[in-house]
Amino acid sequence: MLKDQDRIFTNLYGMHDRSLKGAMKRGHWNGTADIIKRGRDMIIEQVKASGLRGRGGAGFPTGLKWSFMPKQSDGRPSYLVINADESEPGTCKDREIMRHDPHTLIEGALIASFAMNANACYIYIRGEYIREREALQAAIDECYDAGLLGKNAAKSGWDFDCYLHHGAGAYICGEETALLESLEGKKGMPRMKPPFPAGSGLYGCPTTVNNVESIAVVPTILRRGPEWFAGFGRPNNTGTKLFGISGHVMKPCVVEESMSIPLKELLERHCGGVRGGWDNIKAVIPGGSSVPLLTKAQCDDAIMDFDWLREQRSGLGTAAVIVMDQSTDVIKAIWRLSKFYKHESCGQCTPCREGTGWMMRVMDRLVRGEAEVEEIDMLLSVTKQVEGHTICALGDAAAWPIQGLIRAFRDEIEDRIKAKRTGRVSAVAAE
Ligand code: SF4
Repeated sequence: MLKDQDRIFTNLYGMHDRSLKGAMKRGHWNGTADIIKRGRDMIIEQVKASGLRGRGGAGFPTGLKWSFMPKQSDGRPSYLVINADESEPGTCKDREIMRHDPHTLIEGALIASFAMNANACYIYIRGEYIREREALQAAIDECYDAGLLGKNAAKSGWDFDCYLHHGAGAYICGEETALLESLEGKKGMPRMKPPFPAGSGLYGCPTTVNNVESIAVVPTILRRGPEWFAGFGRPNNTGTKLFGISGHVMKPCVVEESMSIPLKELLERHCGGVRGGWDNIKAVIPGGSSVPLLTKAQCDDAIMDFDWLREQRSGLGTAAVIVMDQSTDVIKAIWRLSKFYKHESCGQCTPCREGTGWMMRVMDRLVRGEAEVEEIDMLLSVTKQVEGHTICALGDAAAWPIQGLIRAFRDEIEDRIKAKRTGRVSAVAAE
């Protein structure tokens, strides 16, 4: 179990003073100028050595991503953009950082921006996060007043401005290029890649988009040393991590734990266990709504990290763990996600625009058992035609949960169809 002295987020639950004074008392903003004086290359090397992988879902190595930014400017400015759009169903970890421990993020933004030669950072916050925006803006204002932002920020010799931008609540704006479009004042629609943001991002300038947690952990990593961070978890899956657990557990929570913690330990230690006991698990979505679910048998051995979950054809994603017990209508649960993705598709590419609607309508009938058994394979084949054939990952996100459902619960889907036909039970109707 992660010890208290190894927690990066010391005010995750808002029990302490979140103001600058309180944050400084807990060790934040301590020696920031000295960290910056280590120089760009050293900071990037240390972030690489810590093994930090992006906390927004994809798990791409953060230090490596930073190293793609141009070392010398060709006249264009560079930007850091922080993705605080956090809209994946089940995910609510960045929210706790922004409303209770905002200084971790602002200090991280300064250091990361310096490492990427950026004098400005934009934080794009989700439209529904109103109180979080207020807390974060108050913290930014405090930093300006204290000389931690602005000219010669924190006496580091680096001029740095940090802007908070409030989104309007579209899920797709969490996709990095749609976020950039939205930030530029356009409709939030994903861009084709390449060019990648490091070459041409915000306003056509070199840009790195990072998740809130990825940036907020950086100052502590650099203060305590990359070896300390790399000491948690398994090789290639290092560090501490925020997990957000919801659904059928006794005490849903967001908690910072060591990467690679077994799922069972995570749920029993921090959430009071599964409702009705461990054996009452039906399925668990381990990483936010877009990753395929795990069956009970997989949950027994589950290790919460990028590689283990990928080997199981699922993913760590945002580490938003959604627990479903035996009382769950799992077909209906996945149908609800299909409805969500259909609603949030930006409509720009045909496989996603048409496919998400098609998948949702078949799911709709599967929930009621009003389908032919052969349609299960047809649905699976549609998911394969959507997956990997779209501009952004929303197509995959819509396809994967259905694939996971069919893999694990085909029998249950077939039973419902048969039961409906024979009039054995009244199947649950989708609303
Ligand atoms: Fe838009 Fe869907 Fe295409 Fe992404 S995959 S660009 S959300 S239509």
